[in-house]
Amino acid sequence: MSDPFDLIVIGGGSGGLAGAFRAASHGARVALLEPGALGGTCVNVGCVPKKAMWLAAELAQKIDLARQLGFDLPNTPPLDWPEFVAHRQRYIENIHASYRKRLDAAGIVLLPQRGRLVGPDAVECADGVRLRAANILLATGGHPVRPAIPGAEYGIDSDGFFALCDAPERVAIVGAGYIAVELAGVLQALGSRVDLFVRGPRLLASFDADLAAQLVEDYRQHGIHTHFGYALRAIDKDRDDRVRLRDAADVATDLYDTLILATGRMPNTKGLGLDVAGVACDALGFVLVDAQQRTSVAGIHAVGDITPQPALTPVAIAAARRLMDRLFGGQPDAAVDLADVATVVFSHPPIGKVGLNEAEARARFGDGDVHVYRTSFRPMLHALADSPQRSLFKLVCVGEDRRVVALNLLGEGVDEMLQGFAVALRRGITLQDLHDTVAINPTSAEEVVLLR
Ligand SMILES: Cc1cc2nc3c(=O)[nH]c(=O)nc-3n(C[C@H](O)[C@H](O)[C@H](O)COP(=O)(O)OP(=O)(O)OC[C@H]3O[C@@H](n4cnc5c(N)ncnc54)[C@H](O)[C@@H]3O)c2cc1C
Repeated sequence: MSDPFDLIVIGGGSGGLAGAFRAASHGARVALLEPGALGGTCVNVGCVPKKAMWLAAELAQKIDLARQLGFDLPNTPPLDWPEFVAHRQRYIENIHASYRKRLDAAGIVLLPQRGRLVGPDAVECADGVRLRAANILLATGGHPVRPAIPGAEYGIDSDGFFALCDAPERVAIVGAGYIAVELAGVLQALGSRVDLFVRGPRLLASFDADLAAQLVEDYRQHGIHTHFGYALRAIDKDRDDRVRLRDAADVATDLYDTLILATGRMPNTKGLGLDVAGVACDALGFVLVDAQQRTSVAGIHAVGDITPQPALTPVAIAAARRLMDRLFGGQPDAAVDLADVATVVFSHPPIGKVGLNEAEARARFGDGDVHVYRTSFRPMLHALADSPQRSLFKLVCVGEDRRVVALNLLGEGVDEMLQGFAVALRRGITLQDLHDTVAINPTSAEEVVLLR
């Protein structure tokens, strides 16, 4: 056994890095194990490259609107995909460099190795070196999973999407979650023709049903075909490597150049030694944690996508920071507050929510106590260009005093709009507080304070 550290972090993604930095800032001696690129999913194959592609898609749509409004532009200016990817990857490289610098400055020992638990306070690196520490943080994230059907290997997943070098002409996407919805919007805006295949009756199950339905309509206007109730049974491919889907009745779809399977993610627990250390998991394999990120084994903690907590970068970061404040910062009660976490789907237009959706509010407070205020409108740019894209805002209030318990927004700009309202909602506001706030005109955001 080598000299002990105070903390060993397994995984250098959003949660692991945040935990390592915060622990070091409290004076802890930290070892961080990360065999891949620093930043994990979010920086390398998640939020960051996804947002870059979304920004490119937004620009493409804006160019189209500009043309409709009189700018002398070519019909569909194609994106030089490799050039854009070079910009994207340069941006990501800068993040890596900044992490390396910060790790050095914080005195964190970075070991570019996989780690596995070999006891409640011991980790073995891939090269066989064993480290010991009173505290271990599991932050190994998750990975995409494909359906267990014949031909699933012919598709790519979200990692494969970020490896694309060009816009595929015809794309099928299977899934209904935020990754499927986001990639559909990006690809269609960048010139692909996209079909979205959904097993159930709707998109984005955890979001408001009306907003999800409006998004389907907005996507239809953009040319995306959504096929609900699709029972995918198999995938095959022709001599030109084009793929086709088959449903339960063995009916084949058209041929596609690319198939993206956005069919869920599972935690990275394989080979992590959870069984050796005795760390308990739930039925799906996620590491069980209490409200202060403790696993079932004293001294072993977990944050991020390896746990059942919401799979969002800011959740992993906040959980890791609070944990280190508790372990090394003298704050015994520190814990992440997961109530009213705001979240955005980067669709076109984006969807954002904080608090409950309407159905959840009715289930929790009862129909009689729930008051829903909604507005549907065309944002000014789209109205000017006579584009059909609509925004839909819903405010959910409860009780006589109309306490605001949720804001569900679909429309241009809601991704940037929501954060401030999330602060207000957490502080506790009523409908009257919104009405007492003088509007900013002319904006889409003012619709929130004008809702009646
Ligand atoms: C396509 C996509 C888009 C997304 N978009 C958003 C978004 O817009 N906003 C948002 O908030 N979230 C988004 N997410 C989710 C977000 O990326 C994750 O919630 C976040 O990265 C989780 O952080 P983590 O620290 O738990 O895991 P990760 O960031 O995945 O990091 C885990 C790290 O652990 C390492 N590792 C694994 N096993 C071992 C081992 N045995 N030893 C050592 N290291 C190991 C991995 O190499 C990896 O680097 C997106 C995810 C995807 C896939």
